[in-house]
Amino acid sequence: MGLEFYTSKLGDAVNWARKYSLFQYPFVTACCGMEFMALWGPKYDVARFGAEFPRFSPRQADLLIIVGTITERQGPVLRRVYEQMCEPKWTVAFGVCASTGGFYQNYSVMPGADQCIPIDVYIPGCPPRPEQVLDALQLLQDKIQKGEGYIQKRERAEHEAVKAGKLKVVG
Ligand code: SF4
Repeated sequence: MGLEFYTSKLGDAVNWARKYSLFQYPFVTACCGMEFMALWGPKYDVARFGAEFPRFSPRQADLLIIVGTITERQGPVLRRVYEQMCEPKWTVAFGVCASTGGFYQNYSVMPGADQCIPIDVYIPGCPPRPEQVLDALQLLQDKIQKGEGYIQKRERAEHEAVKAGKLKVVG
């Protein structure tokens, strides 16, 4: 009982550190990029949330922000970027195009980035206002603190499966 209490508190502290040290990789493809740049200016000051450093290598990032339309041909590239990122990692779909394909209802546009990778938070709007993005960032931070990100839930499920003997660790 004592040990369980200790590990849950350690998990809370680790999640607290994770949510205030997000290193984002912007995957920018279209016009939402202009609004995305506005967010990083001094007026909205995203540094207050510990998420101000963009990283242009997925291997150094843990937050993937998909900004703009994703075409079917870009899907495999987005998937590869996601797979190269460190774990645990989180994803945000920025704007209606990244969330649902937006008004591009045609054969070449993917109806949302969640067709090829899991998404933790969706931001509506065409383009979204910076205030909406800050709201989404705080929502993501809440999820990280509670361990409700997609990867965190998957890790927990795998851990439970190993404990129950339903899954074997190889290597
Ligand atoms: S949501 Fe609107 S602003 Fe953003 S990429 Fe789509 S069309 Fe452009």
